[in-house]
Amino acid sequence: QQPELWSPEFNDFINKCLTKDYEKRPTVSSLLQHDFIKQIEGKENVLQRSVLSFLISRNCMSFFSRFERIHTKKGNYSKSLVSNQEEVDDLATLEVLDENTVTEQLQKGYAKDQIYTYVGDILIAVNPFRNIDIYSSQYSRLYIGAKRTANPPHIFAVADIGYQSMVTYNSDQCIVISGESGAGKTQSAHLLVQQLTVLGKANNRTLQEKILQVNNLVEAFGNAGTIINDNSSRFGKYLEMKFTCGGTVVGAQISEYLLEKSRVVHQAVGEKNFHIFYYIYAGLAEKKKLAHYKLPEYRPPRYLQNDHFRIVQDFMNNSFYKSQFELIEQCFKVIGFTLEELGSVYSVLAAILNVGNIEFSAVVSEHTIDKSNISNPVALENCASLLCIQADELQEALTSHCVVTRGETIIRPNTVEKATDVRDAMAKALYGRLFSWIVNRINTLLKPDKHLSGNDDGLNIGILDIFGFENFKKNSFEQLCINIANEQIQFYFNQHVFAWEQNEYLYEGVDARVIEYEDNRPLLDMFLQKPMGLLSLLDEESRFPQATDQTLVEKFEDNLKSKYFWRPKRVDLTFGIYHYAGKVLYNASGFLAKNRDTLPADIVLLLRSSENNLTRQLATHPLTKTGIATVVILFFSSLPTHGALYKFYKYPGGRYLVTFLQYSLMDLLSKMVVGQPHFVRCIKPNNDRQANKFDKEKVLVQLRYTGILETARIRRQGYSHRILFANFIKRYYLICYKTNDDPPVSPETCAAILEKAHLDNWVLGKTKVFLKYYHVEQLNLMRKETV
Ligand code: ADP
Ligand code: MG
Repeated sequence: QQPELWSPEFNDFINKCLTKDYEKRPTVSSLLQHDFIKQIEGKENVLQRSVLSFLISRNCMSFFSRFERIHTKKGNYSKSLVSNQEEVDDLATLEVLDENTVTEQLQKGYAKDQIYTYVGDILIAVNPFRNIDIYSSQYSRLYIGAKRTANPPHIFAVADIGYQSMVTYNSDQCIVISGESGAGKTQSAHLLVQQLTVLGKANNRTLQEKILQVNNLVEAFGNAGTIINDNSSRFGKYLEMKFTCGGTVVGAQISEYLLEKSRVVHQAVGEKNFHIFYYIYAGLAEKKKLAHYKLPEYRPPRYLQNDHFRIVQDFMNNSFYKSQFELIEQCFKVIGFTLEELGSVYSVLAAILNVGNIEFSAVVSEHTIDKSNISNPVALENCASLLCIQADELQEALTSHCVVTRGETIIRPNTVEKATDVRDAMAKALYGRLFSWIVNRINTLLKPDKHLSGNDDGLNIGILDIFGFENFKKNSFEQLCINIANEQIQFYFNQHVFAWEQNEYLYEGVDARVIEYEDNRPLLDMFLQKPMGLLSLLDEESRFPQATDQTLVEKFEDNLKSKYFWRPKRVDLTFGIYHYAGKVLYNASGFLAKNRDTLPADIVLLLRSSENNLTRQLATHPLTKTGIATVVILFFSSLPTHGALYKFYKYPGGRYLVTFLQYSLMDLLSKMVVGQPHFVRCIKPNNDRQANKFDKEKVLVQLRYTGILETARIRRQGYSHRILFANFIKRYYLICYKTNDDPPVSPETCAAILEKAHLDNWVLGKTKVFLKYYHVEQLNLMRKETV
């Protein structure tokens, strides 16, 4: 009998583990001795297991301090042994694992176009910055169901492992791709989807085509040219491919995180707006439809004016943009958007560009109150007609606002500055909501057909492609959000590779060495803790109308007593954070406004009155995200460090952007925690996007902060697969027994099978068999032969 999901006992147990006082928290060993654990041992369900592992790993610091630390002695091995060594496919098999050796190995491979390398079950991908012919259908076939050592390391092999594990263990999988901007994450995600659709033998060609188009479509809206990457993802993306239990692909679903909306209204020097704006300009010009969508034909709209483009002809004549427009229109159609929807999408995009062109001028009057007027009514008319709203009402909403005092509603004029802010807020909100709407529409259109997937809930493989760590000359709110997300991912990676690994050994009584690693939890606490974490402070300050960015930074300084935070100068708005990936200087200018991210109620109401279906939808309900495991989120929200979520549920009013940030990170973490993770670590070999250039120093820094070296060490000692006795026997008994045999579920049976397979170095724990990844490959091969 399965223990109940949220029984009172389980709740009690969790509360005990999560006392606010870290010192009073139970240690891992006492946790494991707890009556409750003993009761549910072996009967726990997936969610409980995840929650337990998470609890245990949250306590890993006390765990580590109680454990004797074992240092791997450096310099014990002779150097000469290494330099003669050929490059290897799996760094975990290297005798010596110092920084130099690893970098040299990667460099040797890179010189021969071998861009992929394993560290145990983790794949390292070094960006070649040129096309290498290793992704053809021949290659695709080569990696289907192949033993890992049979072929050179490859991203297709990761797809295969994920797929095979999903089918074999009947469990969801998750592939986490990380690396800095321009390292190759998005490319890797594409390749994984490509191979997974092949593996999922979509018997339905249209579905396969649809899934392959999803990335192209969302990237047209969510990616932009930055100084680092011409096609930089400005949002985090979690794409789930849905399969039947038999492994046939039946659908897909996508979640987006933290779209960088501010890019719509402003781009830094040398950067561009979202791709789609340039595409529609070129495409609609080609179709002679600029006038229909009221797009100016001479001067580029304000939002598209930057260093690159001075005249509209710059985009109109761009043949790449034209062909991209065709491609995107095709994507929309293949996925199933109607022509009417498509027209509405173009209208909203064109409206956004027209919003940006609205200009204001100050009205000089005898009264002291500053007023503003719209000085170019044409842009206003255009915008109103594209959104199917009344121009005079739009003017009203932009140039004035309502204040309610003592039950009375008073209309106050907006200054030019304020009106400009409202204008930009409207453009950002429209774009953000349009993006969410498209994503939601895709999800509806690619929802698995009940008819196809049968009665089972099915399985899924999620692919996470999240923006990499960023450190520019000037770092703002967006960089802070991105970098916090990356801290979370790193935390998850650490949890997975180090803490879970160690905890499981302890739990199972398996003797394995403890490896030290850089734990970034204290830093995450500094961000997420309530009420004194950086994000809570930001949220709090956003609620004070008199607050300024200056008072915000001072608030940070007064309250964040952390060695990870510092202020270089007392007077200005800069502050620094020591991230796991290095120190970053932020400038708090605009933090409050960006965090408030408010859209005046007048504008929302006006949009709701639109004659156009899409415009109305964008303004009505905040689009709900699908597929959220609410229970898990609520659980995470009860964790002391992730408390802000609680507020999100308790007080639906007055929530600000940082609250959403924590919300979506938790959403993400909760999704990843329930699946079995696989990691792809992308490495950028140089800052110049050049082929055949391997900057050793640059690579070394990335290896260091991503913990790849420790990973290699732990993987070599570690057991990448742990399988419950019963599952192991069910799967492999044929190697040693006859079809009709029914061997008992016992460690002895497992040992018999393993011995029959002539394997050594495996370990039996209390409930599980611990295997190295090469054992599993061997076993699967032998199993195939017997079937
Ligand atoms: P990220 O998503 O990490 O910011 P991208 O995936 O957009 O990085 O990669 C940046 C650029 O690097 C791509 O536009 C492409 O030109 C190149 N690139 C990345 N991976 C590969 C690969 N496997 N083969 C060839 N070029 C690649
Ligand atoms: Mg990307």
